[in-house]
Amino acid sequence: MNRRYRKTIIAGNWKMNQTPAEARALLDGVKGLCAKAKWCEVVVCVPYIDIPLAVRVLKDCRISVGAQNMHQEASGAYTGEISANMLKDAGVKYVIIGHSERRQYFGETDALVSQKVTRALEAELRPIVCVGETLQQRDMGITLEIVGAQVKAALSAVSADKLRRVVFAYEPVWAIGTGRTATTEQAAEVCNHIRTIVRKKYGARAARGVTIQYGGSMNDSNAKELLAELDIDGGLIGGASLKAESFATIVNAANQ
Ligand code: PEP
Repeated sequence: MNRRYRKTIIAGNWKMNQTPAEARALLDGVKGLCAKAKWCEVVVCVPYIDIPLAVRVLKDCRISVGAQNMHQEASGAYTGEISANMLKDAGVKYVIIGHSERRQYFGETDALVSQKVTRALEAELRPIVCVGETLQQRDMGITLEIVGAQVKAALSAVSADKLRRVVFAYEPVWAIGTGRTATTEQAAEVCNHIRTIVRKKYGARAARGVTIQYGGSMNDSNAKELLAELDIDGGLIGGASLKAESFATIVNAANQ
């Protein structure tokens, strides 16, 4: 991380876990252990149904609430969907876009990710755009090409003045929920590549300011080493965000 130029952000992704009744204890735990972090922004991306509770519990502290997805259209006949404006109105600040589970199980494409990023920015949400290669793509030696194409697509309609609101999360698909973490070198190489792409499109100053997280089995024992890399500006944390103590240890590592 390099706090001189950009924000360090640790975001928990609860995925489809925690009913509102269960979420209360986890939110209280996270609030108790993480609310004092001064040097990094802490976010919890909760299921839609937990958003009102999370906003209420966290309203008087520095921890922000995020969502895990949203629809690309502003409103309309899309039964079961949630719009960016609804999230904004509910008190949400961040929204995860294009998580690999959305790409894999719900057919989300780079084009759809681009539409969602644009819509999130219009609603003044901060998109956390997930990119990453599969194990097969890594073995084929095309990681940088794949991630580069995902980044370019996500940014295709993003103007320079909106770029500073975009966060990237490099998440190798093979490292998500598997307990297998990318090596520090692998993570740093790809995060650096993402910054290079941003630099080519928007210039050096914009590239210096963009937050790029790593995600994929980041936990309390590997966070410190990953976050020591200049190009890794935080983490998107799945499994380890479901235990307040583990999440707090990662937040502390980012808050050093
Ligand atoms: C994620 O869901 O974005 C993630 C990185 O999960 P995990 O930390 O469990 O690998």
